[in-house]
Amino acid sequence: MPGYKHPCRYCGKLVENDANFCPFCGRISPVGSLRCVKCASPIEYGWKVCSHCGLELQTLCPKCGKTTFFSGQCEFCGTTLTYTDPNAKEKKKKWF
Ligand SMILES: [Zn+2]
Ligand SMILES: [Zn+2]
Ligand SMILES: [Zn+2]
Repeated sequence: MPGYKHPCRYCGKLVENDANFCPFCGRISPVGSLRCVKCASPIEYGWKVCSHCGLELQTLCPKCGKTTFFSGQCEFCGTTLTYTDPNAKEKKKKWF
């Protein structure tokens, strides 16, 4: 619904409910369902693996080294987490 706003799950400011990024804190998927970084299925905070593709949803942040929920950005330092297909190791960091 256009114009209908929800609080960002991270910073609590109101953003459009179809926003892909929070304009205030810059986090991915500030409202609505979290998406699996591999298959884009809806996932929920706290899950161990994606219910669709089985991707591990707990990951070590490469920057701060803490275990974080794999939902786009590290919960602790905000580093963008990207999924790297293990079968395509030679082309690393395909998004940056
Ligand atoms: Zn926010
Ligand atoms: Zn998945
Ligand atoms: Zn981190």
